[in-house]
Amino acid sequence: MRSVTAYATPSAKAPFEKTTIERRDLGPRDVLIKIAFAGICHSDIHTAREEWGQVNFPLVPGHEIAGTVEEIGSAVDKHQVGDRVGVGCMVDSCRKCVNCLAGEEQYCLEGNVGTYGAIGRDGQPTQGGYSTHIVVDQDFVLSIPEGVSLDVAAPLLCAGVTLYSPLKHWGAGPGKKVAIVGLGGLGHMGVKIAHALGAEVTVLSQTLSKKDDGLKLGADHFYATSDPATFKDLAGSFDLIINTVSANLPMADYLSLLGLNGTLVNVGAPAEPQSVPAFALIPMRRSWAGSMIGGIAQTQEMLDFCAEHHLGSEIEVISGEQIDEAYDRVVDSDVRYRFVIDTATFA
Ligand code: NAP
Ligand code: ZN
Ligand code: ZN
Repeated sequence: MRSVTAYATPSAKAPFEKTTIERRDLGPRDVLIKIAFAGICHSDIHTAREEWGQVNFPLVPGHEIAGTVEEIGSAVDKHQVGDRVGVGCMVDSCRKCVNCLAGEEQYCLEGNVGTYGAIGRDGQPTQGGYSTHIVVDQDFVLSIPEGVSLDVAAPLLCAGVTLYSPLKHWGAGPGKKVAIVGLGGLGHMGVKIAHALGAEVTVLSQTLSKKDDGLKLGADHFYATSDPATFKDLAGSFDLIINTVSANLPMADYLSLLGLNGTLVNVGAPAEPQSVPAFALIPMRRSWAGSMIGGIAQTQEMLDFCAEHHLGSEIEVISGEQIDEAYDRVVDSDVRYRFVIDTATFA
């Protein structure tokens, strides 16, 4: 075991505290990563505040991890000391089920092992990226391509792949009209990636306050959902809508924006159930779907795609002491567009 510095929350209502956690000794297939940056995902907040259910505290969140390899186990052959690497939302899976074998480890039939808040296959609780080091099986460690710096790469490991995966699955590209609902951490990556894939991109945001940013990020159009005219003007106009919003929306209104055979994909994960009238789906043969992050191979494909298209996250770098304040700003939709913790501030 080795002791490393981390920021943990001791309960759902308490502020983060600087503390020490233990990382396991390297097994033959393990990689010790010196974490440089960790993004703050809204899922960290849902989890730490127990909005999704009970949590075993203390909790060290963080599943948007970028750093360098410091040490490798005796059988590691995918990564070398000094390599620039990343870790996303999962650190293991069964590797034997039909979904794992298809490269969709996030949908492992035995449940993937979350980067934090889970029990690892070694029986120990997992703790995430708000820390100086992490030990991860080499198969769940991604390579960060040259040309994408570690700070802007970190959010790609969750926000990037969570948008890349459904955009690819539902065929976003030239000739397709794609709407991204919510311009936060996930949404801003959705705009960049959908634009790079060649789709016509519309942002649906609560107000027009982020309009200039949205257009700079690659959106072709930008509408305020607080303006009822938006739903009239855009009725039936999209092939694909990706909803990244962390709170419940009036789903029927958003489904009415889909054209024939259109799909609305929820990646936003509010705690409360959402309801949809059948007649929001039946006309126009609409689908309402969900999507969870992406598999390991697709995460690597997304990182390579981002490098090729010179895409990274728009970030605001913060210290460990600013995590609580950053959480409040994310909840207030006041993030531009991802907070990234610099672990050099933990010293
Ligand atoms: P975020 O940065 O907070 O972005 C969410 C955006 O939604 C906000 O910036 C805001 O955009 C909009 N919004 C927030 N509250 C709203 C409300 N009450 N009504 C309408 N719009 C609202 O969060 P994130 O990190 O992108 O995560 C978004 C959601 O995705 C979270 O629920 C998170 O847990 C989930 N998530 C899911 C996956 C997955 O695999 N499916 C992966 C990661 C995260 P505007 O200001 O533009 O309106
Ligand atoms: Zn996330
Ligand atoms: Zn599996």
